[in-house]
Amino acid sequence: MAYVPKSLMLGRCWRCGRRIYKADDYFTCPKCGSMYCTTCAKKQRGKCPIDGSELIPH
Ligand SMILES: [Zn+2]
Ligand SMILES: [Zn+2]
Repeated sequence: MAYVPKSLMLGRCWRCGRRIYKADDYFTCPKCGSMYCTTCAKKQRGKCPIDGSELIPH
C-alpha cells in the first residue's frame, strides 16, 4: 500500500466514511459544508441528503 501523507486528506465522506484526498474528485454542499465521495454524490443525484442543496464538484 502506498504511503499517503495525512495532510493530503481533506476529510471523510459524510455518508460512507470513505477518506477523501486532495487528488480525489469529491463534492461539497455549499449550505452545510458536508463532504461526499463521487459514488455517494451520484447515489444522491448530486444533492445534499441533509438540506437538498445542489452539491458542488471539486
Ligand atoms: Zn461516500
Ligand atoms: Zn447540505
